[in-house]
Amino acid sequence: MNAPIRNHDVAELKRLDLAHHLPAQADHKVIAELGGSRIVTRADGCYITDGDGHRILDGMAGLWCVNVGYGRKELADAAYEQMLELPYYNTFFKTATPPTVKLAAKIAEKMGGHLTHVFFNSSGSEANDTVFRLVRHYWKLKGQPNRTVFISRWNAYHGSTVAGVSLGGMKHMHVQGDLPIPGVEHVMQPYPFGEGFGEDPAAFRDRAVKEIEDKILEVGPENVAAFIGEPVQGAGGVIIPPDGYWPAVEAVCRKYGILLVCDEVICGFGRLGQWFGHQHYGIKPDLIAMAKGLSSGYLPISAVGVADHIVAELREKGGDFIHGFTYSGHPTCAAVALKNIEIIEREDLITRTREDTGPYLAKALARLNDHPLVGETRSLGLIGAVEIVREKGTNHRFLDKEGEAGPIVRDICIRNGLMVRAIRDSIVCCPPLIVSHAEIDELVGIIE
Ligand code: PLP
Repeated sequence: MNAPIRNHDVAELKRLDLAHHLPAQADHKVIAELGGSRIVTRADGCYITDGDGHRILDGMAGLWCVNVGYGRKELADAAYEQMLELPYYNTFFKTATPPTVKLAAKIAEKMGGHLTHVFFNSSGSEANDTVFRLVRHYWKLKGQPNRTVFISRWNAYHGSTVAGVSLGGMKHMHVQGDLPIPGVEHVMQPYPFGEGFGEDPAAFRDRAVKEIEDKILEVGPENVAAFIGEPVQGAGGVIIPPDGYWPAVEAVCRKYGILLVCDEVICGFGRLGQWFGHQHYGIKPDLIAMAKGLSSGYLPISAVGVADHIVAELREKGGDFIHGFTYSGHPTCAAVALKNIEIIEREDLITRTREDTGPYLAKALARLNDHPLVGETRSLGLIGAVEIVREKGTNHRFLDKEGEAGPIVRDICIRNGLMVRAIRDSIVCCPPLIVSHAEIDELVGIIE
């Protein structure tokens, strides 16, 4: 722990929270009934501490993002030094700053091969907005302006902006704001324990991929701009596709000349045991969105990785891509992201996730498979889920009949010192990549 302990008047903070703060993604009636939000005051390693003095194992790495864990003085130092030298300058008007350029080169090195350039933003949602506009701009430059339609999956999460929610497949989010906007079509999520329950995995995979191809033919291939998907769906419930799904999706995209976009906002920076999730699946997307683990959440920064053929088109045809944000390429955020990547490299957190802690988490979760309320456990790298079922051997959820069990189990976990998230009737986890075997045992033990 690096920071000095500061005492906070938690009762007063809760009062101010209720009086003046509208927290994100919240039921404000529930927060009011609770008398204010939980005030998190500090964190170190894999643990957070709240204002009431509870020390809680952070099984969610914040919001799927604190990959290098909390309390990294090096990251604070990187921000401090950059702020003294040049806290801010923009990348509009043909300017750039040293950390921005160095970070772009570093990300290009990690993406490897054909993904050669990056466009910076501040959040995952903004990254997907950039994807949305860049893809449509690209097709206009290519002389195929009718290619405007995006195909996405139900239950995908691509952010909270208008384009992000539209690209996403969360029906309850669509309801607020009358979304999606025109030009987004949704197909089945590749969810073996859900839509594919009891089905042969290869047959289910083929069915899920066929639905994409059918949708392309329905819309007309000449109108389809891109297919977008998270390598492993995170907020949709840690949906790990069946073997061969992604290469088959890639083949369909290539067949019809459609761009393939991977939303790597959660899967990037080691979560699946590779720098990027698509590398685990051996595919070559044309664009990728990244955020979260890029800076381990220490400062807000996101990026879109862009393939060389798209960059070539922009350079050949010219004309402004009239898109960007005040904080695109923010030098202090970029300096922190660079240091964060250096830590991931130095501590070899990616190999560790792939070869050590990831398999350890899988084995630990598997211990829950005998539990009478557990229908399935699954994980890949350091992201996992436990499905709670009403009847062993089925995928019948409590939510079908008696309300959701997930939030009840989640609240019991938190009371017992573990932060996890409930997604419908599953408990999901996504610990920092520095998590130890003992902490994984603690995590699974509390869920049990
Ligand atoms: N894409 C994915 C896959 C995400 O999981 C998220 C956030 O959880 C986003 C996009 C949106 O990122 P942000 O909340 O930084 O806008």
